[in-house]
Amino acid sequence: MADKDLYKIIGVDKSASQDEIKKAYRKLAMKYHPDQNKDNPEAEEKFKELNEAYDILKDEQKRAAYDHYGSAAFDGNGGGFGAGGGFNAGAGFSDIFEDMFGDIMGGGRRRNSGGAMRGSDVQFTLEITLEEAFKGKEATIKIPSIEKCDKCSGSGTKSGSGAKTCDTCQGNGRIRAQQGFFTIERTCPTCGGEGSIIQDPCNKCHGSGQIKKSKTLKINIPAGIDTGRRIRLAGEGEAGVRGGPNGDLYVLISVKPHKIFKRDDTNLYCRVPIPITTAALGGSIEVPTIDGKPAQVKIDAGTQNGKRLRLRDKGMSILKSEARGDMYVEIYVETPVNLNKKQKDLLKQLADSFESDTGKNSPESAGFFKKMRDIWDDLKD
Ligand SMILES: [Zn+2]
Ligand SMILES: [Zn+2]
Repeated sequence: MADKDLYKIIGVDKSASQDEIKKAYRKLAMKYHPDQNKDNPEAEEKFKELNEAYDILKDEQKRAAYDHYGSAAFDGNGGGFGAGGGFNAGAGFSDIFEDMFGDIMGGGRRRNSGGAMRGSDVQFTLEITLEEAFKGKEATIKIPSIEKCDKCSGSGTKSGSGAKTCDTCQGNGRIRAQQGFFTIERTCPTCGGEGSIIQDPCNKCHGSGQIKKSKTLKINIPAGIDTGRRIRLAGEGEAGVRGGPNGDLYVLISVKPHKIFKRDDTNLYCRVPIPITTAALGGSIEVPTIDGKPAQVKIDAGTQNGKRLRLRDKGMSILKSEARGDMYVEIYVETPVNLNKKQKDLLKQLADSFESDTGKNSPESAGFFKKMRDIWDDLKD
């Protein structure tokens, strides 16, 4: 029904009130009514068009959808304007609107005539440690699941014959009645909108064809995986209804924060405290790595707080690769606390021995205080 202007068909303005639409519709409906136009296919076509346009515009929700989406909202699902013949040619409309307004209009789930539906996709979040993300692992997960009833093989019926198409609504789930010029549509009372009826429901699943279970699955988590990655297990989602295919299961990976390491993609960061003496004299320290083998790191004499050292290929494994990222050790020089008398004396002696004037032992401090003196001198002038 591309390019059909529903307002034009009814002969009103876009801003017309419901009352105006109703009046205009009635006038034209009289004019094109089949009773007044025997053997006039043109009038018949007009009448059909008119009713279909009115069907939408009289309903505030449908009208709003039409105003918003235009004819596109009604295209592409069979039926449509003038197609199919007969007054019910508009069957396509209500289907589309149930998709768009299913909740608002209270319409049930849409079913095809056989009643088969694909099962829902399911997402499961799996928490793993950073070590597990590094090594990769085969995880066993237990998830609640809805599966095909084994007693009736998912048919929902004792005899296995499956659901029978509802005679009242011919499987549509909705029935239409014409009263004068109006077509009234409502949920089929016989099948409750399902479109099909089960005469001998299975006593295990009560006709749904599904049962709740928990199932155990093995999944392969590749080394190098990171938070936010999803692993898809095709067909492991919810069971399809009445012979429909199963949905898929998505396992969403969440890597727990680590006590020591911070991860940034394939690199790892680790803050390592060292004593002030090691920082001054130099030496060697042992740092942990993600693969469990400690690494020796050489500390140069005169290492400053915050210095970053790179350990090549000691980071995370990289997905689908033999390579590894890097690890960065961030040095944190720890000031000693809880000193005893002897230690204090030694430090005082040390302090006295510093050549504070030349800045030989503490070039940063000397430079800083010189700049400060310059600022004060400038202020005095
Ligand atoms: Zn029915
Ligand atoms: Zn069953």
